[in-house]
Amino acid sequence: MKIKYLGTAAAEGIPAIFCQCEICRKAMELGGRNIRTRSQALIDETLLIDFPADTYAHFLKEKFPLSKIKACLITHSHSDHLYPIEIEMRKDDYAHIENKEPLTFYGDESAYSLLRQAIEKVHIEENVVKNVLITPFVSFETEGYFVMPIRASHDSWSSPVVYLIEKDGKSLLYAHDTSDFIEESWNCLKKFGKKIDFISFDCTAGTAPMQYVGHMNLQRCIDMRKKMVRLGLADSSTICVLNHFSHNGENVLYDTFSEIAQKEGFWVSYDGMEMTF
Ligand SMILES: [Zn+2]
Ligand SMILES: [Zn+2]
Ligand SMILES: [Zn+2]
Repeated sequence: MKIKYLGTAAAEGIPAIFCQCEICRKAMELGGRNIRTRSQALIDETLLIDFPADTYAHFLKEKFPLSKIKACLITHSHSDHLYPIEIEMRKDDYAHIENKEPLTFYGDESAYSLLRQAIEKVHIEENVVKNVLITPFVSFETEGYFVMPIRASHDSWSSPVVYLIEKDGKSLLYAHDTSDFIEESWNCLKKFGKKIDFISFDCTAGTAPMQYVGHMNLQRCIDMRKKMVRLGLADSSTICVLNHFSHNGENVLYDTFSEIAQKEGFWVSYDGMEMTF
């Protein structure tokens, strides 16, 4: 399985769109891996995770075959993960696609309903975009992948899930945006009961201390990984990546944070990072 990180920031991006803070100024100055667009990932050039406004910029930069992709998993309805009105551009005449098959979106209630509104507003046919309502803890299959949506601990209005994805004996847990899981979610992972090969953790706050539920910092990632090791869900061969950074976090610039994270056995994502496992 191959994952490509297309966008690796929280909602505002780094530098944040209207911000003059020190982190944003520094990121702009340093450039390279310190520049982060909004969250999106691609599995094997087949399965898209999330659909932010930056999808178009990702397509331009990475040149992945967006017109051919048939499945997109939406984690939740926050704007850095879902920008529904863009789907209008897949309609005939806006897009000329050979052997056109629908692009199917999978999302829980809030994402599903935002997409439904967009579909109704601009009259999109089922052969252009399909909208599928998922249920947390009920697995489904798409494009040959086993997908288990697991309830995330995040703004409940956005009906958040994280995804456990499995194919050909390889597995990946894409765990944004969330903090420590609720009991039911841990039980679902326990039921899976196998070592996960690749885990992408939410590290919105970097090394900053945090009290609120919804995201993670480095310490929370360390604690979550420890619990996963205890439960047999991870071991020293599991690739652990930190992702989804905010300019309001501490030490979040790539150049700084990659050194800190490496000491704890984590990789740090950057826009365009690709890993095969
Ligand atoms: Zn987010
Ligand atoms: Zn800023
Ligand atoms: Zn969110």
